[in-house]
Amino acid sequence: MRIVLLGAPGSGKGTQSQRLVERVHIPQISTGDLLRSAVARGTELGRLAREAMEGGRLVDDSLVLGMIRERVGEPDTRRGFILDGFPRNLAQAHALDHLLESLRRPLDAVVQLEVDYKELVRRLAGRRSCADCGRVFNLLTSPPGPDSTLCPKTGHPHRLVQRPDDNEATVAERLRVYDEKTRPLIDFYRARGLLQVIDAEGDVDAVTRRLAKALGEPALAKSPKKKAAAKKKAVAKKKPEARKTAAKAGRRKPAAKRTAAASVRKARAAAKVRHTARRAAAARRGKR
Ligand SMILES: [Zn+2]
Repeated sequence: MRIVLLGAPGSGKGTQSQRLVERVHIPQISTGDLLRSAVARGTELGRLAREAMEGGRLVDDSLVLGMIRERVGEPDTRRGFILDGFPRNLAQAHALDHLLESLRRPLDAVVQLEVDYKELVRRLAGRRSCADCGRVFNLLTSPPGPDSTLCPKTGHPHRLVQRPDDNEATVAERLRVYDEKTRPLIDFYRARGLLQVIDAEGDVDAVTRRLAKALGEPALAKSPKKKAAAKKKAVAKKKPEARKTAAKAGRRKPAAKRTAAASVRKARAAAKVRHTARRAAAARRGKR
């Protein structure tokens, strides 16, 4: 399963990628990690990348593609991979297409995580990170709870700050850049018959289930806990059926029949009263 996940900053792409990695056991290939690792290991591509970064230039696409080529040659990608952070624009998408085609390992699916613009802004505005250890929290979706661990760096509660990246103006700009550069990929992959769009708002588990469905991946769809809950629900559903059977067996009349019988009794009683009254009236008339 060779996958690209597309989604704006704040779409939950990182979280969903992580869940895929854990449950389907295919690696996530992050171009950011590849670059850092190549630079740290001092490989030829890493040396070139560092030169570019130190010269204040963008790292050339061909360098990144070279690193992807090396990475997808490693044995852990045999069953597939999730590409993260690449491609970000049409030129990169074309280049990636050619690379994977030449390796005879084309993409199987591209999933677009769709989240409303307002919701993206809301989510990104809630992001905070610890100034000491760097751990990322979200005041809306994953706040540091009362029982959260202390900062491993200081032994005190985490010191939450908003990164310059996450202030309102920067968020708007990041989303604008995404829309301009990355949105066109949606049409590119749709034209190749690879695109699946899923609703990525609401409950994280529900999004994971939609993602699993889009990928036709049952292993991702259900956790053991969910299965137990589903079984319980099925048993509960059976109950009205059991009641009906008992009623048929004659142990107890269903509520509707009980009501009908009662109203017949009432009507008969009323008729009797009317009948007695008529006879009394006739008797009175006869006496006159
Ligand atoms: Zn911390």
